[in-house]
Amino acid sequence: MLDVRSCASLSEASGILLGDRHARLVGGGTLVMRDVNEGRLTEGTLVRVVDPVFRQMNAGGPRIELGAGVTMAMVLASRELAFLHPAARGIGGPAIRTMATIGGNLFADTPYGDFTVALLALDAQIVVQAGYGSGRAMPLEEFLAARERGGQGLVTGVQFARPQNASEFHFRKVARVKPKGISVLSIAAHLPLSGGRVAQARVAYGAMAPTPIRARGVERALEGKALDAGAIQAAKQAALEGCRPATDAIASEWYRREVMPVHLGRLLAGDGR
Ligand SMILES: Cc1cc2nc3c(=O)[nH]c(=O)nc-3n(C[C@H](O)[C@H](O)[C@H](O)COP(=O)(O)OP(=O)(O)OC[C@H]3O[C@@H](n4cnc5c(N)ncnc54)[C@H](O)[C@@H]3O)c2cc1C
Repeated sequence: MLDVRSCASLSEASGILLGDRHARLVGGGTLVMRDVNEGRLTEGTLVRVVDPVFRQMNAGGPRIELGAGVTMAMVLASRELAFLHPAARGIGGPAIRTMATIGGNLFADTPYGDFTVALLALDAQIVVQAGYGSGRAMPLEEFLAARERGGQGLVTGVQFARPQNASEFHFRKVARVKPKGISVLSIAAHLPLSGGRVAQARVAYGAMAPTPIRARGVERALEGKALDAGAIQAAKQAALEGCRPATDAIASEWYRREVMPVHLGRLLAGDGR
């Protein structure tokens, strides 16, 4: 039997999640409720958070803080988060975006997780109420590793620095069905320029490994370079370093490896195709 608990505070919710390994948080429920409706989830406690802090957005300043319960539709309604609109708009259709949360996206299995790819390129910190070996803000990469080890707990929000120049942040999702197909792959890149040269590049991929990953070979190839044809060619050559894409219903491993360097090159060249 399934029990539903509505929690007025984050601490109440995290207490239930940590005390009962069969308890599952419901963010927007686009994945959890699918499991319920299709009979994969029949036992345990579904935990809802009604604390307004869970959906709070502080997006006006240089440090952005978003509650884990903020939805893709809320991101799209915020002018201050315009640089994240391509990532939020790429997630499902309008009905999904109205429900789908940032927190839930952090847990979505590959090839889902498009928003998380954008957060990885923004060097986001994940705020954890409890669990995942933490009670604090932790780097997203560390969180994804803890998630893969089967951690349990409550994510309350994400934090990251606003890109100084929105035009230095890029996101590209490649899908076979437009506009709302599941990712063949996705790429996010934050490429700050200093004196015309890339300084502290951060590039992340979705659907190229069991979790979203940093493209460290690409970052190294771009660091300190002007974004010219030579640097883009070097980045394409390093594009597949660290990748372990899967074959699934959307694309084969072979196909993902073939097309990633092509799409990376287009993103770096500012080609909108
Ligand atoms: C038709 C369809 C299309 C989709 N298209 C896309 C797509 O294009 N791109 C994409 O990335 N995803 C897609 N998704 C997957 C999903 O909708 C999104 O990833 C969404 O962001 C998940 O968020 P949610 O709030 O609905 O998660 P939920 O279903 O509420 O939760 C998902 C998992 O995360 C856990 N969880 C959620 N929030 C927290 C939290 N704060 N702390 C701890 N655990 C938490 C839940 O317990 C659950 O295990 C699609 C889903 C459907 C059904």
